[in-house]
Amino acid sequence: MRVLIISDIHANFIALESVLAAAQGKYDAVWCLGDVVGYGPMPNECCQLVDELADHRVIGNHDWAVLGRPGIDVDDFNPMAREAVLWTRSVLTAPNRSLLENFPDVPVQPFGVPNLLLTHASPRQPVWEYVHTPTIALENFAWFDEPICLVGHTHKPAIYRWRLERTWDQVENGVEVGAATVDHLPAPVEEALYLEITTNQRLILNPGSVGQPRDNDPRAAYAFLDTELMTWELCRTPYPIDLTQSQMRAAHLPRRLIDRLSYGW
Ligand code: ZN
Repeated sequence: MRVLIISDIHANFIALESVLAAAQGKYDAVWCLGDVVGYGPMPNECCQLVDELADHRVIGNHDWAVLGRPGIDVDDFNPMAREAVLWTRSVLTAPNRSLLENFPDVPVQPFGVPNLLLTHASPRQPVWEYVHTPTIALENFAWFDEPICLVGHTHKPAIYRWRLERTWDQVENGVEVGAATVDHLPAPVEEALYLEITTNQRLILNPGSVGQPRDNDPRAAYAFLDTELMTWELCRTPYPIDLTQSQMRAAHLPRRLIDRLSYGW
């Protein structure tokens, strides 16, 4: 099965449509790692399309904030994100609100794919924590058993590889001792990487963000996962950013949120 992995769409419907057009005919299923809304101008359209397409989805922190669930205070967001959350609340329709309410807030194991876990933020804190350093990744590998976990939330494509170096410690009476390390591997674009999984090697993979990339590349980011060949291919697709920006201007969303799309940060 070839799966299109999308995350952090953030109500950027133009970017989502461009990704789907570029990926057309290349996937059998779609998995969405959350943050369908927040920041962007078309939350209702994005909710509906994700609901039609995505075989699996999990809730993101912005989705959660828009729903106003307990456990998050919108005042903890930065002022621009807060303004976007409040605007999104004001325009989101009741049916789309219900759709988001049904997004799981715990990590999900895709049906028929037992070696994988999906979560928005991290295995340890599924909605909140940023996996953006090898140290945080290393701590999180202790929070799941599957060989591979897919995360979003940072808006930066990433590959973290956990390895267990087994050593024979004679000092401790011949007990086998393992030391785990995590590397942050380069994430090449348009290149299918073979995902080598052993009892000594596991992975956390991040496809980047469809609707608000933050790695200084403004193109929409997504990935293909082939669950039979065990490959991961990161992709980037240019989209008409100015169209999303004019929709944002019409919605009176904060100027800096509009500008940042041009730069990918
Ligand atoms: Zn996000």
